Amino acid sequence: MVYVFPKPIMPRPILATVHTDALRHNLDRVRRSALDARVWAVVKANAYGHGIERVYEGLRGADGFALLDLAEAERVRALGWRGPVLLLEGVFDARDLELCSRLDLWHTVHCDEQIDMLAAHKTLKPQRVFLKMNSGMNRLGFTPERFGSAWTRLNALTQVDEISLMTHFSDADGARGIAHQLEAFERVTQDLPGERSIANSAATLRHPGQTRGDWVRPGIVLYGSAPDFPVNDAAHWQLQPTMTLSTRLLSVQTLKAGDTIGYGSNFTAEGPLTIGVAAIGYADGYPRHCNTGTPVLVNGVRTRMVGRVSMDMITVDLTPVPDAKFGTEVTLWGRSTVTDAVLPIDDVAQAAGTVGYELMCAVAPRVPFAPVDE
Ligand SMILES: *Cc1c(COP(=O)(O)O)cnc(C)c1O
Repeated sequence: MVYVFPKPIMPRPILATVHTDALRHNLDRVRRSALDARVWAVVKANAYGHGIERVYEGLRGADGFALLDLAEAERVRALGWRGPVLLLEGVFDARDLELCSRLDLWHTVHCDEQIDMLAAHKTLKPQRVFLKMNSGMNRLGFTPERFGSAWTRLNALTQVDEISLMTHFSDADGARGIAHQLEAFERVTQDLPGERSIANSAATLRHPGQTRGDWVRPGIVLYGSAPDFPVNDAAHWQLQPTMTLSTRLLSVQTLKAGDTIGYGSNFTAEGPLTIGVAAIGYADGYPRHCNTGTPVLVNGVRTRMVGRVSMDMITVDLTPVPDAKFGTEVTLWGRSTVTDAVLPIDDVAQAAGTVGYELMCAVAPRVPFAPVDE
């Protein structure tokens, strides 16, 4: 006998929601700092964990989409996007160039091997490339000393159409700043033609006049996280959260002084304490590094986790929400549907010793997303 599940199967109460209005708002916010530069919406890593298809409506007002992955580029084209698409790390293999031609992708050139591949590529349609300088980040790109000869070599290829110039900052969010890298980039490129693309989120917001160039490349700000947290927070930059991760309480427990909570008994109640058990754990992508003190919203009221994160559950202090019960809403980050209160993802990331980027990207496949309202 085959057991047939009754339909619909009710899932666990955990849910991720993407906010189209917030994506639009954040894109507008970036445009104000970008002045007249065009905006690449960076949608790598499946739109920072949101889902490319789910952010498309909110971000289609951008001038182009920048990403890493050919499969993601295909998805952007499948959504009907006819404008520019940029591969931020360029091609990984000579065969990728065929797809660049077919999907009309612009691609970064950061090393000699990519120029070799282009030189050997048979195409009738020259390709638009972004030549990348390593101005001090020391990941990808030609050093300032080698940049000019790479440009000359590319410029001689019939496979290459327009050449744009790009670089990437290591410290746009911090004290060291961008001046040393900007100086190297400008010194070497001043006599070269072509459009410039230099600023990520932090550079776009923090150094607007200096760095806009022809194209800015914001990622994290579009998703409502402050690029320079904790120096500034999302409210300072007038950013709105684009993802809410929420769940519900499964259980309420009443503790007395001396009682402990969960694995390892690492939290001990000092007096009477009511706690709630919420249906979320590290198997959903909620970081196990969160521990007692990590902020959460219960019924839209800010409180704190107590004890450790388990695979499928966390425990929260219900002291400020005494009427919470089975089924009460718990917001891990984003916006409460009960009070409109916001819990910035950056606050949670800080408690976990990481950054908002990682939390967004780490939402696990078992977490269902709500349908996007447009
Ligand atoms: C990821 C990435 C960006 C966007 O960075 P944010 O900090 O999210 O704004 C910009 N440029 C390049 C080359 C990137 O890889």
